[in-house]
Amino acid sequence: MTVQNVLDEIRNRPGTGDVIPVIDPVTEQQLTEFTDGGTEAVDDAVARAKAASKSGIWKNLAGSEKSKILWRVADLIDENTELLAELESVNAGIPQNQAATIVAIGSEWFRYYAGWCTKIDGIAHDVNAGGLTGVESRQHAYTLKEPYDVVGLIFPWNGPVFNYCAKVAPALAAGCSSVVKPAEETPLSALVLDRILAQAGVPDGVVNLINGYGHTTGAAITAHPDVDKVAFTGSTEVGRAIVQASAASNLNKITLELGGKSPVLIFDDADLDMAIMMAGFGSFIHSGQACVCGSRIFVQRGAYDKVVAGIANLADNMKLGGPKEEGTMIGPLISAKQLTRVLGYVDQGKTEGVEFVTGGERLDRTGYFVHPAVVTDVDPATSRLYREEIFGPIVTILPFDTEEEVVAMANDSTYGLAATVWTKDIGRGHRLAKQLQAGTVSLNCQMVFDHSMPFGGYKQSGWGYEAGKAGLEAYLQTKTVWAQM
Ligand code: NAD
Repeated sequence: MTVQNVLDEIRNRPGTGDVIPVIDPVTEQQLTEFTDGGTEAVDDAVARAKAASKSGIWKNLAGSEKSKILWRVADLIDENTELLAELESVNAGIPQNQAATIVAIGSEWFRYYAGWCTKIDGIAHDVNAGGLTGVESRQHAYTLKEPYDVVGLIFPWNGPVFNYCAKVAPALAAGCSSVVKPAEETPLSALVLDRILAQAGVPDGVVNLINGYGHTTGAAITAHPDVDKVAFTGSTEVGRAIVQASAASNLNKITLELGGKSPVLIFDDADLDMAIMMAGFGSFIHSGQACVCGSRIFVQRGAYDKVVAGIANLADNMKLGGPKEEGTMIGPLISAKQLTRVLGYVDQGKTEGVEFVTGGERLDRTGYFVHPAVVTDVDPATSRLYREEIFGPIVTILPFDTEEEVVAMANDSTYGLAATVWTKDIGRGHRLAKQLQAGTVSLNCQMVFDHSMPFGGYKQSGWGYEAGKAGLEAYLQTKTVWAQM
């Protein structure tokens, strides 16, 4: 398959709704277009998933066989790295070397969960459970871990291959059948991954790819009475809509990986050069379009001026550009819509009277590029730019004096996705790890990830976990069986 094949193929996908253009965010040119799948495509995909599950063709396949197939998927993803990375670049503007890394992380999702296929087990106990009836009796009790029949997998545009693999790999390992909807902005790489699944031996009907807008196709998945579980990554606002859809339909189970406004705490005893570099990358990488970006930086007063100057210097010197342009470190925002949103926050900040140390303006070139911005003097109580998730390259930096003060500032958010602490005081690092309200806390490192470690949000950043054993459990139900002895 070539990029051109993919661009052609998506035009012919079934659908009944609007024609949706696919735009290259670097050239602003239309790459191709496709038709919104809509309710009919969802009904059809759910019916196919349900039939596959009822047939047991995947659900009842031995774990060792599932494992081999998932491993084969991983190998095929690796073999197609060039194509997949090219699609990430052309569709999401991700620099070429970063795109290849994202593809490699994608194949590792499948290898990691290939290992779990043979390790899905419950617990067993001999118990004396006659107490409730007063009759003396003994039972053997055990639990079965059973997959949901049909799961809906919905995810955003910010890392199309990564997001696809993060959901499809554990769902397959658990034995679920699924309906998969990538973001409307980035539908391309999923076509290749869909083809790879078939080539690796995932039976027809087990994973059903559909395309379309969120408010049409996505909403139809979440409201469908035969979808037993929805696993969603995206904004907190849409997460809320998904909970409402579940309440209004069949109370399907939900996991949510939502937004963040993650704090980075830099103490004046930290390795400041390292902290500055990592905090800068951690704010601006992918133009701030990563859920764990550290968009609120707090610096102890003694180091404040140095850190502000250092991060502003990075903002001015990290090369923005197209994926193939020499030395590109940061790609563009994904769309004109996202550009308008980010520039709207810049205007909002200016009317609030915050200080832009640097950045915030659109680059004078084609593509949705915004110069990374460093903002100080925000009012934490009222500033929208400080409190809301922007999902763009804008970081606020505020000073603090004491540990207690900075914990209160960091936790003063409706979000709780990630937090980072830079300090050489080991005791303080671990003390703060307990006090920070976030699903992930990094001590003297930032933006780290491994498939084996659970990832999820506290507060309004999510429900449940992805990755690790917890990420597998998200696709399994527990049944307790009692047997009279
Ligand atoms: P979004 O919520 O607008 O869209 C995400 C997905 O949901 C898309 O596929 C979209 O089509 C679909 N969708 C939209 N409305 C829907 C509806 N009513 N019903 C069902 N599906 C619907 O998010 P976005 O702007 O595309 O992505 C950015 C957001 O994703 C940010 O908030 C970011 O923090 C979050 N995110 C979170 C994580 C995480 O792991 N916590 C990872 C990446 C991105």
